[in-house]
Amino acid sequence: MLDPAPRDPAQRFWDPEAQTMPPDQRRALQDERLRDVIQRAFSAPVPFFRRRLEEAGAGPGDIASVDDLDRLPLTVKQDLRDSEREAPPVGDYRFTDLHQCVRLGTSTGTTGTPTVMLWTRHDLRVEYECAARSWWRMGIRPGMVCTHAHPGYLYGGGLMLSGAYEYFGALNLWVPPPDTDELAEQALRMWMRIKPDVPFMGFALARFFEVAAKLGIANEDAALRIPNLPSGPPAMATAGAECFAFLAGACEQQRGGHIAEDYASVQAVDRSTGRQVPDGEWGDLVVTTFGRDNCLIRYDLEEACRVERTPCECGETTARGWWGGRYQDLIRTQGKRLQLFDLEDVLRALPEICTPSLEYVVVRPQREDAPLAVRVERGDGTGANGTDDRVAQLLRERLGVHAEVVVMERGSLPRFGYKAIRVVDS
Ligand SMILES: [Zn+2]
Repeated sequence: MLDPAPRDPAQRFWDPEAQTMPPDQRRALQDERLRDVIQRAFSAPVPFFRRRLEEAGAGPGDIASVDDLDRLPLTVKQDLRDSEREAPPVGDYRFTDLHQCVRLGTSTGTTGTPTVMLWTRHDLRVEYECAARSWWRMGIRPGMVCTHAHPGYLYGGGLMLSGAYEYFGALNLWVPPPDTDELAEQALRMWMRIKPDVPFMGFALARFFEVAAKLGIANEDAALRIPNLPSGPPAMATAGAECFAFLAGACEQQRGGHIAEDYASVQAVDRSTGRQVPDGEWGDLVVTTFGRDNCLIRYDLEEACRVERTPCECGETTARGWWGGRYQDLIRTQGKRLQLFDLEDVLRALPEICTPSLEYVVVRPQREDAPLAVRVERGDGTGANGTDDRVAQLLRERLGVHAEVVVMERGSLPRFGYKAIRVVDS
């Protein structure tokens, strides 16, 4: 399992054949793999997907190509939760028996009851291969020290990422998520002993900056670096561990994430019609996986995405995707639709609230015309007056939004060791 063939570090792609395949050839591969999934939904059978297919009037041979996917209904996370409740212990949407799988994980449950995720050995290999493509694109090579702070145990993310680094041939430096200052310190001290070649880039980066400042640890000693984040929507990377953890990855052109289309069809879908929107337009991120044992058909992640198919200068021939945020975090205010990255782009422009980390929450507006309530912590050692006005002014200038800003003392808002909750209800 941990023995991919060695590559020449100078070669351009991890998997040149898959990544530079002519698009029509890849399309034929997609169609073939999709037909296999549909067949298995009937023959295994997979009662959940078989029902969905039959409800749409589709028999085993009716979905011949990814063009036919628009005929099929969407499945959302709540459908998976319902299936798990009604057909315990793991629902009736699985393509394999529980005992054919080698790994189990759960989602974090940040958006409701966690669902159970299952992988066979083959499913893990597919994820690891796609992760390897992404890392190679980023310039990471086997032999480098890579670090992360994903949660473990039942939450499958940490083990998935660790397994993928080990498969790739990197030294996997898995530190604890910084749930407490003590755990953050363990990580910082380890990074001072063994410096990662790829600086930490996870969700909790701000926590490490904050704890390093408390302990008087210099950022460079702990290999902490503020990433040079492009503004605007991020490149597509994942469709969630329950669907496709390493779905896509950006190349050096920064033109969206190259999608592993040999293992998935990604559609930007108009929710009201269920049909794909034209390339370049925003829609619901809908993913169908194939070429693995456990698949999902027309899985709607309730997140926004945009797909582009124009050629990329890097030479990879896949479609590329952009991620537009979770609908749950979408803020509708004063006739505008904002995502958290829009707000963060603005807030990061004010150093007085960003040192050592930016800490803020937004209250989900009850009324469209009400001012947007933003709470933000002041930075360390800045007692400057007028920060609230400066934040409000910047939000008005950059986003055209009237905001009521409350500046709070450092440490007033909750901290998170993994994904922070930034949109609150009161
Ligand atoms: Zn590219």
